[in-house]
Amino acid sequence: MMKFSKRKFTKILLFSALTFLFPIRAILAATKKIINQNLSEEQKKIMFNEGTERPFTSNLLKEKRKGFYHCANCGNKLFESTAKFDSGTGWPSFSKALPGAFKTKKDYSFGMERVEYHCAKCGAHHGHVFNDGPKESGKRFCNNGLCLIFKPE
Ligand SMILES: [Zn+2]
Repeated sequence: MMKFSKRKFTKILLFSALTFLFPIRAILAATKKIINQNLSEEQKKIMFNEGTERPFTSNLLKEKRKGFYHCANCGNKLFESTAKFDSGTGWPSFSKALPGAFKTKKDYSFGMERVEYHCAKCGAHHGHVFNDGPKESGKRFCNNGLCLIFKPE
């Protein structure tokens, strides 16, 4: 009896040591992967290092056609053109994402609390979501244009 509980104790100890050695951050990082081998250095910096493109530089700012916006890394369908609006911020902006397109996490960089979002399929960073958006959703997905590929319908 004594021996059994000791073994169980060792098991728990070992498990705790493993979770300490391989924290959740490492597991999350492992889910991020480059699928599109043709990504530019700038795209990689944004998508895998949580960078931000310079505002008013994206070709997609003027894009008004009907269609869908996909992840530049994995092709995951993220936004419908009907959700796009001109926020005046200099980054492509959307009032809502397609269901299940993204996962979010709190970002405390630059002394602000923001909600960062990344592609649910490949883990690539896309932008931040704010609560000052238009329409019924009230959300503003502020997306780096370089992370998106537009496919007109
Ligand atoms: Zn993706």
